[in-house]
Amino acid sequence: MNSLEKDCTSGLPLPACENVTIVTRAEWGAQPSKEINYMGTPVGVVFIHHTAMSECDTQDRCSEEMRTIQRFHQVDRGWDDIGYNFLIGEDGKAYEGRAWDRIGAHTRGWNDVAIAFSIMGDYTKHLPNDAALNAVQAMIECGIRLGKIDADYKLYGHRDVGATECPGQRLYELIRTWEHYGRVGSEPPVKPTPIPFHSGV
Ligand SMILES: [Zn+2]
Repeated sequence: MNSLEKDCTSGLPLPACENVTIVTRAEWGAQPSKEINYMGTPVGVVFIHHTAMSECDTQDRCSEEMRTIQRFHQVDRGWDDIGYNFLIGEDGKAYEGRAWDRIGAHTRGWNDVAIAFSIMGDYTKHLPNDAALNAVQAMIECGIRLGKIDADYKLYGHRDVGATECPGQRLYELIRTWEHYGRVGSEPPVKPTPIPFHSGV
């Protein structure tokens, strides 16, 4: 690991995933996290978000978008880092945010028990392309294989637990058809107990 990569990641090593390319923080030109807090895994909850900002379909454009979103979250919002664990582009790649083990800033009240994937774009009126949707599924499968996501995980949209349109009406309708969608009727989801973090030593 070179020094630039070390400065940019400041986290645990990022294993590769099958069927999806992960663009690391060093590759998209991340600023370092201001502070890092780890959570225990495997988490039992996965959230789907959209960024409600620009779509992107090449690594260059998605990397630029990642830098824009990180600046927005770190500078304007004052958060430690880009909020989501991973972001997904319509280039079919996953972009490393807080990655698997770091507590994010994506879903108020649930950040320490969930991993969040956010598809770059606004999916109120149309769906993300298949490349992006396939990348989300591949990342969830990878998270299970790596022991970061429980095989019996429940999947929600951001709006299931917060007053927001996120992840956009069309994308929300789609994820409600996915096998692991966890909400039954109008009952609010119940937050699981956080798992203590162990460094794996
Ligand atoms: Zn959201």
